[in-house]
Amino acid sequence: MLNHKNMNIPESGLKRVVIIGAGFGGLQLAKKLRRDKFQVVLINKNNYHTFQPLLYQVATSGLEPDSIAHSVRTIIKKTENFYFRLAQVHRLDSKLRKVHSNIGDLSYDYLIIATGSQTNFFGNSSIERYALPMKSILEALDLRSLILQNFETALLTNDLKERERLMTFVIAGGGPTGVELAGALSELKNFILPRDYPDLDISRMNIHLIQATPCLLDGMSRASADAALDYLKKFGVNVWLNCPVKDYNGQIIYMGNGEEIESANLIWAAGVRGALIDGFEVSSIDRGRLLVDPFNRVKDYDEVFAIGDIAAMKNDKRFPNAHPMTAQPAIQQGVTLAKNLNCLAEGKKMKPFRYIDRGSMATVGRNKAVCDLPWFQFKGFFAWLIWMFIHLVNLVGFRNRMVALTNWIIQYFQYNKSVRLIIRPYHRVQPEKKEKVGLMEN
Ligand SMILES: Cc1cc2nc3c(=O)[nH]c(=O)nc-3n(C[C@H](O)[C@H](O)[C@H](O)COP(=O)(O)OP(=O)(O)OC[C@H]3O[C@@H](n4cnc5c(N)ncnc54)[C@H](O)[C@@H]3O)c2cc1C
Repeated sequence: MLNHKNMNIPESGLKRVVIIGAGFGGLQLAKKLRRDKFQVVLINKNNYHTFQPLLYQVATSGLEPDSIAHSVRTIIKKTENFYFRLAQVHRLDSKLRKVHSNIGDLSYDYLIIATGSQTNFFGNSSIERYALPMKSILEALDLRSLILQNFETALLTNDLKERERLMTFVIAGGGPTGVELAGALSELKNFILPRDYPDLDISRMNIHLIQATPCLLDGMSRASADAALDYLKKFGVNVWLNCPVKDYNGQIIYMGNGEEIESANLIWAAGVRGALIDGFEVSSIDRGRLLVDPFNRVKDYDEVFAIGDIAAMKNDKRFPNAHPMTAQPAIQQGVTLAKNLNCLAEGKKMKPFRYIDRGSMATVGRNKAVCDLPWFQFKGFFAWLIWMFIHLVNLVGFRNRMVALTNWIIQYFQYNKSVRLIIRPYHRVQPEKKEKVGLMEN
């Protein structure tokens, strides 16, 4: 008999479905699986779900972290045959049908990998060391502290070059995250920081957005990309296109076109890859994601499924390189897999997943957004209202929706952001003294 005592999950006689990850996909699945047919165990490394699309607002003092996080135990209300465990899963042992975690092992009948993605530094250890990613609440809080600390430090120096270095923010990656962050930083610069720091010349604050490809917002329409570029330029953001970031040593950013920017702040929004756990055969992995069939079953693993960012489903002709790593594919795959596992339990046939593309959008600072729907595109104030509505509806928890809405209304009318607090100071990695300042060999 298999031993479950480490995680203290009782034997119920029902098949056990173990879900790793309480993100958009994992939560949908956990909510919709039939508890009279399965024992459901949800494992997540935090006790909360993070609404990642609004992380940039935490980083730029627009929202407190608890407005975009929600306790997993509160979200899953039906507790019958359901167990949540706060744990980090490290490894799969498919022969023994077990997962290993920091709190012990657990056996499964069906295993679902819904671990999402992690920041991809593309193997550049120097960028990984000195740049700031924004993939979790902790990282967004670090960024918020760093931004505010920089202005406090800038006040203390008379060295204009050093002051400018502290007040220069460079964002690598012109996808929705980079664009939204650049827009929010420009709002801080134009409306808020001059009031907070009257003794600093905030016009010397520089915001750079660096994109490796010829357009912003890859994957969105050309019209939306051009509109976003136009808005950002009007807000005073320096946008660099066709220009990959090559290296960063904590002081200077080296770019593909040979130019350099001196900055104490490189924010890395240039890529993600699947958050894999160990134990999968190389043949099941494609560029950091798990290859799945149209039923989300992982290649070569009969009882293991993957959904969301971590899953690469390549049979859909519209998405030959797999679905985009966004919330909708994760949510839809979670719902479909729940239906399919419920069907399996009843001896019925599973149905292949079909992605319904509901469009994409990005907000660009105050009052502006771009929106691509499957049948038309629009931009401007109306798109911004729609962006706010969609994000409010999708935020988990009534309280979070009310807090976010109230914050946004106050900010809109007062031209203010209320949470400019350094709660947990950020300790920057100091560039090593002897380190060569220059391009690393890559
Ligand atoms: C800054 C930012 C902005 C974004 N903006 C948008 C947007 O505007 N629109 C949009 O559609 N998408 C956006 N996305 C992408 C979207 O958030 C993801 O596509 C979506 O969260 C994927 O859902 P998921 O269920 O696959 O994974 P996630 O929601 O990432 O959830 C994965 C969960 O697994 C947990 N986990 C991971 N590894 C382990 C482990 N080993 N053990 C235990 N638990 C583990 C994590 O803690 C997490 O809770 C954004 C992402 C970021 C980072």
